[in-house]
Amino acid sequence: MNEITPKIARAKKLMNAPEDIIPEAIAGMVGAHPDMLRLEGATGRAVVAVDGPRTGKVGIVIGGGSGHEPAFAGYVGRGLADAAAVGNVFASPSPEQILDATRAADGGAGIVYLYGNYTGDVMNFDMAAEEAAGLGIECRSVAVCDDVASAPIERMTERRGIAGDFFVFKIAGAAAEDGRDLDAVEAAARKALASTRSMGVALTACSLPQTGKPNFEIGDDEMEIGMGLHGEPGMRRGKVGTADHVADELLDPILSELALAEGDEVAILVNGLGATGLLELYILHRRVAEVLAARSVRIHHSWVGEYATSLEMAGASITLLKLDDDLKDLLDRPCRTAALTVGAVAAPAASAKAAARIETARVLDRELASAPAPAQKLVREGAITPAIFRAMVNAAGERIAEEVDMLSELDGVIGDGDHGVTMDIGWKAVRKALADSPADETIETSCKRMAKAFLDAVGASSGPLYATAFLRAGTAVKDRLNLDAASMARWIEAACQGVRERGRAEPGDKTMVDAWVPAALEARKAADAGGDVLACLDAAVAGAKAGMESTRNIESRRGRSAKLGERAVGHIDPGAASTTVILGAMCDAAHAALG
Ligand code: ADP
Ligand code: MG
Repeated sequence: MNEITPKIARAKKLMNAPEDIIPEAIAGMVGAHPDMLRLEGATGRAVVAVDGPRTGKVGIVIGGGSGHEPAFAGYVGRGLADAAAVGNVFASPSPEQILDATRAADGGAGIVYLYGNYTGDVMNFDMAAEEAAGLGIECRSVAVCDDVASAPIERMTERRGIAGDFFVFKIAGAAAEDGRDLDAVEAAARKALASTRSMGVALTACSLPQTGKPNFEIGDDEMEIGMGLHGEPGMRRGKVGTADHVADELLDPILSELALAEGDEVAILVNGLGATGLLELYILHRRVAEVLAARSVRIHHSWVGEYATSLEMAGASITLLKLDDDLKDLLDRPCRTAALTVGAVAAPAASAKAAARIETARVLDRELASAPAPAQKLVREGAITPAIFRAMVNAAGERIAEEVDMLSELDGVIGDGDHGVTMDIGWKAVRKALADSPADETIETSCKRMAKAFLDAVGASSGPLYATAFLRAGTAVKDRLNLDAASMARWIEAACQGVRERGRAEPGDKTMVDAWVPAALEARKAADAGGDVLACLDAAVAGAKAGMESTRNIESRRGRSAKLGERAVGHIDPGAASTTVILGAMCDAAHAALG
């Protein structure tokens, strides 16, 4: 029987080469606002306020993935953020990119990092903070978690960040501009967060520029209440309701959590997700105002428009900030950025220390690039030579490139739809780094090179996870020229350990750990049983596959799909799938080389 599958057309987008989207968008933004913005640092991903960082002022660094324009770089400017680290579409910026922003924003009084609460952003900002501490820059982090739909109030710290970023950024930016110290600026950000609640609704999916395909399925007449900013599933799917019904449903949990009473004052943000016009947003605002008036809650100020989008998703979110005198004062302080201007700001102060910062960046890059001293006596036994190892890595990269759509689609179901694209970016960078490096270098050196390339290229959760995996795996075989079965098993075990160390996920959490752990166990068993290196790799692949399959039956407890609960059951974890793809390709390449 012939099944008729409707062909999904590729979404139309105005763009040039897919790999140039982010640099070109950044260039366009900085070019459009030369009086406010400049680019700084080697990564090309730190958008900095021309007069933001000032000696003695706490620096505000914001960031996150692209696709949320005007967030995040649109909030860089006087009185708000000093710098933004710009990630790829729906993927956190890498630690190196965040460090560029950090160095640029450093005025010697510490830095507050503000970003949406997603695993990838948390890990990348944490890694950046650790490195910044080494440079003598103290960083505090506030992960914005305003989305009431993403977890119950008792688990507020697991909630996602959506448009509430807007208020948290504004309040913290004003506190820093006010000359408050690091503790006080962090406290202001936390207070704003505690008083901010949001919820959104999606009417359509959006599509990543690289794939052009919708990142989730939704019926023509349906809406998803509580949808996340990357298309993460929300609380309920239903027929599209009237504007008033939708506004009421979004407001309901917000009002009850903020416990708004007669005489309270709020600020409102009615935010469009990318494809919903002001006409509809104003209709929503009308209802919000009506509901608040009925409760005698006063509106101090409203913003209606696009402030944190999801590419071209149709839909909107409603955010309320409950005000007290201090928050109101900070909200009203002047700021001037591409996305938000309040009042009038004073004339720009002269920017300082740019040259010193750029020099620091250069030194750091040089140190990271310098290869370790060659070890003296390397063990030569083993069939996997450095050249074969390289072929295995290249094969993994090629296989990932073939599986981009499959991996992104898996991620679209339970995550945000970027996993294939993100892994492909990382593995392309890995292959390029190896192609540009001496052919006879040791497996250890290649692994460290792979770690740096992957990390610099990829934000998202997988950036730090794979970078740490490669780093640990390389170190585990630093005594080897060639790998035999036992050292191949050691390599896989160390990679697994690296993923676990960085992500702190346990087996059963429905992550790539569920594929890595059995892969390492089976590889070890095969090696201990006297199998050769091919038997060891075969066993690892079988272990990974079984582990990947096991993720189908469990709820997520890590990463962005952790918010889904049992809705994740029935779907394979994308990270576990890519682990299987990678190990499978490495194994096949070893077979091909050794026959
Ligand atoms: P992001 O979630 O930032 O969009 P990716 O889509 O590239 O990143 O990767 C998602 C995958 O990352 C998940 O499928 C899961 O396997 C893995 N992952 C997420 N959090 C963790 C963690 N804490 N430890 C191990 N793996 C994780
Ligand atoms: Mg993802």
